[in-house]
Amino acid sequence: MSNDPASLSVTCLKGVGPKVAEKLARLGLHTVQDILFHLPLRYEDRTRVVPIGSLRPGDAAVVQGEVQLTEVKFGKRRSLLSRISDGTGSLTIRLFHFNAAQKASLERGASVRCYGEARRGTSTLELIHPEYRLIQAEESPEVASSLTAVYPTTEGVHQLKLRDLSEQAMSHIGGLREWLPAELLASLGMPTLGEALRTLHRPTPDVSLSGLSEGEHPAQQRLAFEELLAQHLSMRQLRERMQAHQAPALRNNGELNNQFLQQLPFELTIAQQRVIKECLQDLSRAVPMQRLVQGDVGSGKTAVAACAALHAVESGYQVVVMAPTELLAEQHHKNFYDWLAPLGIKVAWLTGSLKAAERREQMAVISGGQAQVVVGTHALFQAEVEFDRLGLVIIDEQHRFGVHQRLALREKGRGEDGHPHQLIMTATPIPRTLAMTFYADLDCSVIDELPPGRTPVTTVVIPDSRRADIVQRVEQACASGRQVYWVCTLIEESEALQCEAAEDTAQALAAALPQLHVGLVHGRMKAADKEAMMRAFKAGEIDLLVATTVIEVGVDVPNASLMVIENAERLGLAQLHQLRGRVGRGAHESNCVLLYRAPLGQRARERLAVMRETTDGFEIARHDLEQRGPGEVLGTRQTGLAMLRIADLVRDQALLPAVEQAARQLMQDYPGHVDPLVRRWIGEATRYADV
Ligand code: ADP
Ligand code: MG
Repeated sequence: MSNDPASLSVTCLKGVGPKVAEKLARLGLHTVQDILFHLPLRYEDRTRVVPIGSLRPGDAAVVQGEVQLTEVKFGKRRSLLSRISDGTGSLTIRLFHFNAAQKASLERGASVRCYGEARRGTSTLELIHPEYRLIQAEESPEVASSLTAVYPTTEGVHQLKLRDLSEQAMSHIGGLREWLPAELLASLGMPTLGEALRTLHRPTPDVSLSGLSEGEHPAQQRLAFEELLAQHLSMRQLRERMQAHQAPALRNNGELNNQFLQQLPFELTIAQQRVIKECLQDLSRAVPMQRLVQGDVGSGKTAVAACAALHAVESGYQVVVMAPTELLAEQHHKNFYDWLAPLGIKVAWLTGSLKAAERREQMAVISGGQAQVVVGTHALFQAEVEFDRLGLVIIDEQHRFGVHQRLALREKGRGEDGHPHQLIMTATPIPRTLAMTFYADLDCSVIDELPPGRTPVTTVVIPDSRRADIVQRVEQACASGRQVYWVCTLIEESEALQCEAAEDTAQALAAALPQLHVGLVHGRMKAADKEAMMRAFKAGEIDLLVATTVIEVGVDVPNASLMVIENAERLGLAQLHQLRGRVGRGAHESNCVLLYRAPLGQRARERLAVMRETTDGFEIARHDLEQRGPGEVLGTRQTGLAMLRIADLVRDQALLPAVEQAARQLMQDYPGHVDPLVRRWIGEATRYADV
């Protein structure tokens, strides 16, 4: 297809030699199709001359008028001021850089047409360095026939050049393939690809500028739809490729699980039981499980993981449990050890901080197969670690790991009977529609129920000027036998400063509350010391634990009923939610105090209000998405997964159900369209090619 703009190099356009091509490449523009998909950032309306009297500050417009007065003013900066009027009002053109000829040409009575943004001036509105030209008496210049596109530029490729290239590229639109079936477009009421691109490069004057800037124009929606569809399809392809792999079919009569559940001091919730059942079904198939378990903080994901692990162990396979931080890994290790050792199962332990000898010992137990369960951090997946019949990989708090790592893990664990199963657990719940797009390569389970007997945490937001009151509350909580977390945050500063601040706070609190045992954990302590401190806290030997955000995830001390978070205004919602999840884990009424330093900005005020009003992780995640966008929330920024060019997952959420449906239709009825569509949008950036 020689006339397909996807296979035409930019060099076939006039004015593009090797030099320009190189600069375009810096914008990611290699083909004519790339130019067509390089869409304007914004638009300028030069399609009509606007009466000066109707201009408001901030308006960008074409105006035309007669010069009343031109003078040079010597203020802080020398400037040329030229007052023009069109009968409806007057404004001032202000130039800081000018020459004598310019000054002379703007003489009284001259006619000028300008384009610029009106700003509030001293007496009239001002246009600062507008584009302008003088108009001869008999001349009546034309206005633009379409809105003027303003493209994202790069050094050495100017606006006018990009405008010219897009103009040329548009003559190739006819060669672009339409991959969306006509009946689909008709049912969605969307324009064709060609129409959409034409509209976006050269919108006619009747197109609403505000609609365009909000991304709501049907032409934009059409492209966003196609992009989301491509993204979704690429995830589905990934899934299909995975499903083509083999995995050990793990089947047994559940003896270990029965024993485990009998010794467990609580009954599983219905939600836990349901999710476990879904996992065991997957594990019994000869296809690698790819299941994501979403469950709010405290919903009991660890017990679910343990049941899956036991199922694999009973079938004679090794299980890896991986956590994103040492502290969390330590805690999992302790949990799994306490739960599984009585069943005669050996749990090994591997993190980056192990001493060489210990490490060798653990590795030997792992590769020799004496350990059926291995708990650790990503150190587990360093090249030298060898597993013995690895059947299941459990990844906790997956948003800390990107898609990349997930895929790498899968490769790493590959054995003679195929890939290991994967179970991914996350406490960052995301709305269902988003999950379908982002985790389209995974099956999702949701633990949508908290264990019984939990009382929701009451949250208050208090300025740190009332610190003394809070110290009193700490005292009261401890006097009634409860324990307290005091979290110090200093996020912009270095970790060292953060640890210092925690040390200072711990000292100050110990001095203020001499009757209490005050402990301290921070990221710079040795793993063993941290662990010892956490153990002491868990055992109730410490009343008040001062900590940095290292305790964010997973720490479980049910007797802790009060959490104080300093500088809470600096933390994101997800982090606050995680932190707060450390209390309210037992039967006691729990409280969270968010201390802030006044004055609060608008955003921070909103965030803290969300925290005060809800404890529902899904609700909080929704707000978080709106405030920070999916790249930040899902931690996919680095993986490139959220690198959408046109679509915006928050703005365009409403499209997602239709995207999912269209994906199914395409795969079924137009399988040949899938690859080219994915290539058009994800192209070389696809990270899944080698899976
Ligand atoms: P998360 O989902 O945040 O990882 P955990 O697995 O750490 O939650 O569980 C939180 C706490 O709830 C732990 O103390 C755990 O033992 C307890 N727990 C888990 N499931 C239940 C249940 N069904 N009934 C009562 N307590 C439970
Ligand atoms: Mg957990």
